[in-house]
Amino acid sequence: MRPCLYMVIPCYNEEKVLPITSEIFLKKMKELVETGKVSEESKILFVNDGSRDRTWEIIKELSQKEKYIIGICQSRNRGHQNAVLAGLMEAKDKCDITISIDCDGQDDVNAMNHMVEEYINGAEIVYGVRSKRETDTFFKRFTAESFYKLLNAMGAEVIYNHADYRLVSSKVLKELANYKEVNLFLRGMFPLVGFKSTSVYYERAERIAGVSHYSLSKMLTLAFDGITSLSIKPLRIITGVGFIVALLSFIAALKFLFDKFFGYTVDGWASLVCILCMVSGIQMICMGILGEYVGKIYMEVKQRPRYIISERTYDNKEDEETE
Ligand code: UDP
Ligand code: MG
Repeated sequence: MRPCLYMVIPCYNEEKVLPITSEIFLKKMKELVETGKVSEESKILFVNDGSRDRTWEIIKELSQKEKYIIGICQSRNRGHQNAVLAGLMEAKDKCDITISIDCDGQDDVNAMNHMVEEYINGAEIVYGVRSKRETDTFFKRFTAESFYKLLNAMGAEVIYNHADYRLVSSKVLKELANYKEVNLFLRGMFPLVGFKSTSVYYERAERIAGVSHYSLSKMLTLAFDGITSLSIKPLRIITGVGFIVALLSFIAALKFLFDKFFGYTVDGWASLVCILCMVSGIQMICMGILGEYVGKIYMEVKQRPRYIISERTYDNKEDEETE
């Protein structure tokens, strides 16, 4: 049996790249179908993430021209992770396997052949892992690599140098659908779902056109979100810091007592202010971290929908059946 493949491709303000990369995806899809690796019913599913430019119009035009191309539109911009999730959840009942990939052409589509082979050999999740980052600037490489190291050090299990290019079977997606968290960090969630997984390696190219949507501040936010939505290690760390500060204060207090009893004058103002500032600074950081978790709880208890699909380029059969 040839598996039915859905490529899930999030697009946000990508009018410059889409006409180029859609050709690349289409060529790959045709090749996979013609070589008998995937079934005729396979599709390329573009997810428009509330773009402000012509992205959705381009997707609609493409879907009219090409039978392999379909699209869904989110009601507004919800960010990369939610766009990928919307696509995966849309695809999970329609296909056997999904491959999520960015639409900027940075990830090598040729790795898909290998991914599908690994699926046929029994893997349910196949992670696309970048073997080199030579095309990235030093800054991007440094920040991205620190990102993975920080996440793992903080207790969020992620695959090193794996972004959101991966094959996932519908079996895994059906389990993922039970993970209801609003604070999404897909990269960290698939290792949690489990199942047999493996990695394929590819070289990451430069963006074909347009600019990256991940600035340093967005990346820091993602790292912080990733850590706080997957692990409570930072809470433990602040307890540890509290103990260390308490110990240091105790040692300092001994010194001051010693000074007092042996007649030296206590260093008054300066030392006091230093300690005060340091401790209140640490307290504030700790409160901030605590607050972050409280905020996460707040978002989770509201259980708002994670994505809203406002338009499709096709009729959704499941919708009609349930109505
Ligand atoms: N993207 C999205 N919603 C957003 C931001 C980005 O769907 O709010 C998509 C974007 O179109 C691209 C992918 O997510 O397909 C990755 O974005 P980008 O290439 O800007 O990030 P980078 O590769 O630089 O990390
Ligand atoms: Mg990119």
